[in-house]
Amino acid sequence: MTTEISLPITAAAATTRDPRWGEQAECRYADPELFFPVGISKAALEQAVRAKEVCMSCPVRRECLDWALETGEQFGVLGGMTEEERWPLVRVTPRGSGGGLDRCMEARDRILLWRRKGIPLRQIAARLGVDRAVVRKALERFDREDEQQETEVAA
Ligand code: SF4
Repeated sequence: MTTEISLPITAAAATTRDPRWGEQAECRYADPELFFPVGISKAALEQAVRAKEVCMSCPVRRECLDWALETGEQFGVLGGMTEEERWPLVRVTPRGSGGGLDRCMEARDRILLWRRKGIPLRQIAARLGVDRAVVRKALERFDREDEQQETEVAA
């Protein structure tokens, strides 16, 4: 017997025009943790694949993905896509709007993950919709902050 547990899309169901679409979500009977793989280990990547398999048989995948893109939801597998796969599709701050560095600061964890994965600066900038120089500046700031933190811990 399956037990219904909380959805990873509870917020989505609350904000969509038809709040009942969440009632058809395939993930109602899945462990919500499945949809939030952490890191880039083999286990995390396999977890994401399993979550996406659930989404692929979900009758409201389209609604879920639309919600995720409209709200810019940053975390988890939603609508059959990981957060990284959704990111380029989310409406981004136009270049030159002055919000580039702010956007990078908000996306700190993501940028650092992409750098660890060896994704070129050019691609990171494209994903965020900002100039390469802005990403470089943000990375320098992150490194400075990390160094400062290490110094404080050592003192
Ligand atoms: S697409 Fe995936 S995350 Fe979204 S409601 Fe369906 S099963 Fe849940």
